[in-house]
Parts: sequence; C-alpha cells; structure tokens
Amino acid sequence: MTARLLEGRPVADALWRDLEPRAAAFLERVGRLPSLALVGGADEAAAAYGRQIERQFRRHGLAVTTATPQVADVLSAISQLNRNDAIDGILILTPLPLGVDAEQAVLAIEPTKDVDGQHPVNLGRLAQRRPVFAPATALGGLRLLQHYGVTLRGARAVVVGRSPVVGMPLTLLLIDADATVSVCHSRTIDLPAVTRAADILCVAVGRSHLIGPEHVSPGSVVLDFGTNPGPDGTVQGDVDTDAVANLVGAVTPVPGGTGPTTVAVLAEQTVRAAEMHERRARA
Ligand code: NAP
Repeated sequence: MTARLLEGRPVADALWRDLEPRAAAFLERVGRLPSLALVGGADEAAAAYGRQIERQFRRHGLAVTTATPQVADVLSAISQLNRNDAIDGILILTPLPLGVDAEQAVLAIEPTKDVDGQHPVNLGRLAQRRPVFAPATALGGLRLLQHYGVTLRGARAVVVGRSPVVGMPLTLLLIDADATVSVCHSRTIDLPAVTRAADILCVAVGRSHLIGPEHVSPGSVVLDFGTNPGPDGTVQGDVDTDAVANLVGAVTPVPGGTGPTTVAVLAEQTVRAAEMHERRARA
C-alpha cells in the first residue's frame, strides 16, 4: 500500500486534548460539568452507541445523563431537558420507542442544545454559512481533513451520498471551507467519471466496496464513512481500500477512520453549547 492511512484516533485524541481543559475551566467557573442528555435508543446498536458516548465523555471530564422515556413521554422529556439549565446538549438516539416519530423529536429540541446539528434551524444555518452546530459525523470528516493538513480551499471535492446526516451537511461544510463541491447519489449518471475528478472524495452511501480503482484519481484523498456488515462479523467500508491503496494519496481505514471522530465532535459541540449558555446567562 502506498496511500497514507488517515486514522481517526489521533484526530479524536487531539480534539479531547483541547476539550479537557475547557471542560475543567467550565467546572471551575460554573460549578458543574458540560452535560449531554441522551434520549431514546430502543435497540441494542443504539444502546451500545449510548454506552460508548457515556464512557468517552466521562473519561474526558464531561457529564452524560440518559433518559429512556416511555412512548408517550418522549416529547415531554425533551421539553423538560430544554428547560433544564444543567443540560447543555440533547442527542436523540434512534430508533426511538415504537410509535415516536424521530423527526418530531428532533424538531422538539431547542436549537441551542442540538449538539448533533440535526434540527432544521441548525442545518439551515449551515446552508447560510453561519454554522452553529453541524451533524457530528459530517463535522468529524471535516476535522479529519483539517487535522491531516489536507488543502480545502479551491480543492475539487466530490461527496457521494446526500443524506441529511452525512452527505448533505458534509457538502455544506466543504463549501464553507472554500472547496468546490459536486454531490453524487443513486441517480448520478457515470459515477466514476464524476468521482475521478475529485481531489477529495467523500463516500457515505452504505454499499460495501462501491468505490473501486475506476472511481479514483492518482494522489487523491479518500474519506470513507461506510459501515457495512462484512463476512464473519467484520465491518466493511464503502471504498475497496485494498484495491485503491496503490492509486490514491491517502485513505481512511474502516474501521478506525471517520468513525472515532464522531463522539469527540459531539463533545466539542457540547462544550461549545455549555460555553454559549454560560455567556447568555451572564449577559
Ligand atoms: P443513507 O441515508 O442511506 O444515504 C445513502 C446515500 O447514498 C443516498 O443519498 C443515496 O442516494 C446514495 N446512494 C445509494 N446507492 C448509491 C449508488 N449506487 N451510487 C451513488 N449513490 C448511492 O445513508 P447514511 O445515513 O448517509 O449513511 C451512509 C453510510 O455511512 C452508511 O454505511 C452508514 O452506516 C455510515 N454512517 C457512518 C457514520 C460514522 O460515524 N462513521 C455515521 C452515520 C452513518 P439517494 O439519495 O438517491 O437515495
């Protein structure tokens, strides 16, 4: 393999190193830790994600509370968390209990506590190039590119996937960072012709090894957000890393690439929310 492997762990570690003193200083000034509330998480994968967030937040000096409301209580639980001054951020873990609409739940979050940037107000602000909070996976991808010193200004970026969680917000973040961005999706004609023009290729599709040698150009930087079930319980990316590794300049591994940055970015936005709420309370 000649491509540089862009590991996510050093990116997350650098983010945590910046956050720990800010969380400690917040505790000193305000008398409590920056705090995230998790709501929902009705299946094992969501519960495992919640436990991972709890573990990492507590290890690095942030607080997490978990609310597992009954079906009828989800919206009122969110409304109570909105009013609770000791809670800085709220994260909806999907799936919610059967019968609760995730979109309604996201709409119920006070935008200044929407630290995963899912509320239309925050996505709208991102589209206006006045971002406050962005979806954590997408912002994690941007942080990874920044950490490894990838030039964004003027770069030709191609994003494959247009979901509101990864593809669309990443597109907006890259535009805000002065890249020139094309977006591909399932109706794109001649995908390889478009992706081959990319200096930076970001793939968030959910199809194992969709991207192969015919999709990449020499020296390009490839970010893989895919987490697809592979054989024997393994996880496979959307990019066939082995097949492109002698062509591209750098590529994220799966697992261990874009994945580890997500929780650290959630923490980054939780600390920022706490600092914003503190400034407002003092104004
Ligand atoms: P999604 O909502 O299913 O969106 C997939 C996107 O890919 C859609 O825009 C779809 O196009 C497009 N697409 C599907 N088949 C295609 C094809 N053959 N060629 C080109 N585009 C195609 O998925 P998502 O939530 O964005 O997730 C994408 C991947 O990222 C998944 O593997 C997911 O597990 C992973 N993920 C990772 C993290 C992380 O922390 N690393 C977080 C979230 C998600 P249309 O719009 O036309 O349907």
